[in-house]
Amino acid sequence: MAVSKFYLGYKQLSKAVFEWQAADRTALLAAFMVMDVFSHWLWCLFVWYRRDAYSNYIDMNLLYPIWIGVSVVGVFLLWMSSRFSPVRKAKSNIYTWQAILITIYSAYITFIVAVLGHSSLVAGVSLVGGTMLGMMLISRRYVWRAFIGQIIAILVVTLIPYVGITIPNLRQMIATTLPPNIHSYVTYSEMAMMKDATAATVLPNGRLNWDSVNYLRQSSNLLWRSTHIYMSLPKAIFIIYMFRTLLVILDDSRKETLQHANQDELTQLKNRRYGLMQMKQALVTIEESQDISVILLDLDWFKEVNDNYGHDVGDRVLITVAQTLSQSLTDDTIVSRYGGEEFLIVLPNTKHDSAMVIAEQLRLSIAEQTIMVDDNITFNVTASLGLYTLTYKECMSFKKANRAAGKTETGCQLDHSQLNKSYIGKTFDNQTELTQLPQDICQRLICRADKALYKAKSLGRNQVVSANEMSESGDDKIDSLYSH
Ligand code: GH3
Ligand code: MG
Ligand code: MG
Repeated sequence: MAVSKFYLGYKQLSKAVFEWQAADRTALLAAFMVMDVFSHWLWCLFVWYRRDAYSNYIDMNLLYPIWIGVSVVGVFLLWMSSRFSPVRKAKSNIYTWQAILITIYSAYITFIVAVLGHSSLVAGVSLVGGTMLGMMLISRRYVWRAFIGQIIAILVVTLIPYVGITIPNLRQMIATTLPPNIHSYVTYSEMAMMKDATAATVLPNGRLNWDSVNYLRQSSNLLWRSTHIYMSLPKAIFIIYMFRTLLVILDDSRKETLQHANQDELTQLKNRRYGLMQMKQALVTIEESQDISVILLDLDWFKEVNDNYGHDVGDRVLITVAQTLSQSLTDDTIVSRYGGEEFLIVLPNTKHDSAMVIAEQLRLSIAEQTIMVDDNITFNVTASLGLYTLTYKECMSFKKANRAAGKTETGCQLDHSQLNKSYIGKTFDNQTELTQLPQDICQRLICRADKALYKAKSLGRNQVVSANEMSESGDDKIDSLYSH
């Protein structure tokens, strides 16, 4: 993948970080470095162009070798990022080149920081920016070593002037009351002295002198300050952008992981585990006088669909049914793929009769849906549905019975972070609410709905059967909820 295809969007960046080949990532890092080096090169050009104005503040004898050095490093980096780059050649040793690249760049940054503008801000920002980028794009081992090496180099450069060795520096201070040849580190007290001297220059005899102000505006102090800003600002912007990008990437991958954990891949419905978790949540947050209805829906003769039209068509049927369910039901409803061709639908706050109407509508919607195999072949599928409604009263007496039987479960914990938004608002003020329901409460309700489903199958399929009505008419034996 060519570096030129890189856009500054985080999606592209995350692709570069996670999907690109090592060679491409190394080349991209080199391209970033080229940008950095190019800005220094332009700075040299600017100073050279304004040499008449700046020769007082800048050691021009040093500018030329620096400019040449910057150009050489720039050409090297350009070559590394170009398509002639050794990192792109299949047989080249990518890791050796990564090590060379990061070593040269570290040495370069240390040199620039020392000679072009010695400043802890620039040094720090360069260090952090370069390291963050390097860690994202190439071997962290090399970047880590380069980071340590650069810290040592900067420390040495900082301390050397204190032992009396003068490091050549582009900076030439010319404030009249200061020695004209301050080449290296300026201490705090020296700066304070310069400040006083500056004030004295601007305000001769205590009066503002515009010529002096204009002179100072172009003075070395201002030039070097703006130099520091130009050197550190792009890197500071880059660091913040990278940090934001990293957070977005992390956030996205967290969402993706959660989605994979909670979603059925084929139908995009909730999977069984998540469906059950939400069902339990709906049960424990049941409010005064609210009933909860559970529907188990199973496609009829689905094996034949697979046998007659193939597994792919079977898959398409499952997707179509899932879409029909999602479209027909409200957001409050918990719809999950319970098994192969079986769906679990939980209707919180829905009374038995309303749930029966909803179940009947679902049955009709599925039966009306035509599945197309090709232009000439179409078919319909039907579904059988078993329903059970747990009334609020039943739920309460169920909790009481459970408490009386001393079946309080302490392990009935729910993962609040994964709950559906519609339930997040309902908090667990009373933690005992959770513990009054046994672990297998969902299974007990589903078991009842399943019995009704079995009845619907035995009555000829394509119909809805209510477990509540079955137990009322006593035509089928349903175990008591309390004695599971
Ligand atoms: P009944 O009316 O009694 O429910 O009959 P049925 O054929 O639907 O029931 P059975 O349990 O015998 O068959 C279910 C079939 O569902 C068997 C299995 O191959 C198919 N199935 C399960 N999961 C998938 C899936 O993800 N894709 C496809 N295409 N088929 C699946
Ligand atoms: Mg079936
Ligand atoms: Mg089945």
